[in-house]
Amino acid sequence: MTSYDVIIIGAGAAGLMCAIHAGRRGRRVLAIDHATSLGKKILISGGGRCNFTNLGAAPAQYVSVNPHFCKSALSRFPPQSFIEMVQGHQIPFHEKKLGQLFCDRSANDILSMLRTECEQVQVTFELGHEVKNISAKFQVETDKGLFSCSSLVIATGGPSFPSVGASDFGFTVARQFGVNVIPTAPALDGFVFHGSDISLFSNLSGLSHECEITCVNSSHPISFRENLLFTHKGLSGPVALQASLYWRQGEALSINLVPGIDLFAWFLGQKKRGNCAMVKTVLGQLMPNRLAEQLCLRYFPTLLPLPQVPEKELAVFCQLLQDWQISPSGTVGNSKAEVTRGGVDTNELSSKTMEVKKHPGLYFIGEVVDVTGQLGGYNFQWAWSSGWAAGQSV
Ligand SMILES: Cc1cc2nc3c(=O)[nH]c(=O)nc-3n(C[C@H](O)[C@H](O)[C@H](O)COP(=O)(O)OP(=O)(O)OC[C@H]3O[C@@H](n4cnc5c(N)ncnc54)[C@H](O)[C@@H]3O)c2cc1C
Repeated sequence: MTSYDVIIIGAGAAGLMCAIHAGRRGRRVLAIDHATSLGKKILISGGGRCNFTNLGAAPAQYVSVNPHFCKSALSRFPPQSFIEMVQGHQIPFHEKKLGQLFCDRSANDILSMLRTECEQVQVTFELGHEVKNISAKFQVETDKGLFSCSSLVIATGGPSFPSVGASDFGFTVARQFGVNVIPTAPALDGFVFHGSDISLFSNLSGLSHECEITCVNSSHPISFRENLLFTHKGLSGPVALQASLYWRQGEALSINLVPGIDLFAWFLGQKKRGNCAMVKTVLGQLMPNRLAEQLCLRYFPTLLPLPQVPEKELAVFCQLLQDWQISPSGTVGNSKAEVTRGGVDTNELSSKTMEVKKHPGLYFIGEVVDVTGQLGGYNFQWAWSSGWAAGQSV
């Protein structure tokens, strides 16, 4: 049996960050992963360019049963701290939009930086190891060896995107140690529909349009305005991904297909200016023609020119387009989800160190914890901040 001060299971974003900071404190660190290479999610993230943080990362962009839990780690290791690390490695990056920072070249820059820093503090890696058993205080048995440590960090992420080795291992370990797990669900994955809505979506498949989605029934209604992408089975694109983090089964979504204007007043203005086209043609000035056509076919099939359309009917149609209430049958699911919502109950953990209160020496960090960020670099920032926090304590 080989002994270490710290064993980290999961050599992804949070695990590598924790390894670096524990190593800098002189701890002997072993990182175990069942994958044969490091940080696979980092490499595929941000379309291959890794949206590694967000300049505006703050607790309000995270979903958790305890919304205050992430405050401490985020304030002690904020985006600026990670940016300084990136700058220290001369990695070129840019802000794409809304504070989202991406690598100019590729996500591999971030992974190389983390690997280099791990090497500098002599972190040991055991890759391609299946963990068979963990016993209290702590012995970790894998299919290839037996290791012991005084601090055990679980950084195995959530089960979303299993094609890159994601698993629910962390939740199993939590339950083994009697640590509560908040029910989990795939998130940042968009929506699917069934029934009559499907025909509309498949006719619009591939079309993208800026919309505002509001999760109406959630206890705190929240809205996002970005591009909506229609797919064969439902809705995707940044705005749908964001909404899928907050949506709960059975709830409706309200979509404003023409955000930022009073649509009815705009139509009346067109009428005043003598626009004699049919409603679908007029609407096509504000959205792709195919979308205008399909919406009219479904909800306003009149062929009258605009001046002859009764205002009452037009008002009802405008109201529908600006508060289009639809009920998804579900979200797309783990195969496409960027994150897993829910996870290890934050009430079980110290917000300063990520240590399990009732099991000193056991830590949970990163996505496995019930802290889930919006789309836009927030999830990596949580991985860095929580990994750093545990790295100061293990
Ligand atoms: C396609 C995609 C794109 C994304 N893009 C972004 C983005 O641009 N910006 C952003 O902020 N977030 C993004 N995310 C989310 C982000 O990747 C995760 O939130 C983040 O990687 C979580 O870090 P983590 O260290 O907790 O888990 P992970 O990075 O998932 O690391 C977990 C590690 O644990 C290992 N592991 C799992 N199970 C076991 C086991 N049983 N035994 C041993 N090892 C195990 C895995 O192999 C993996 O190496 C994206 C996610 C996906 C799927």
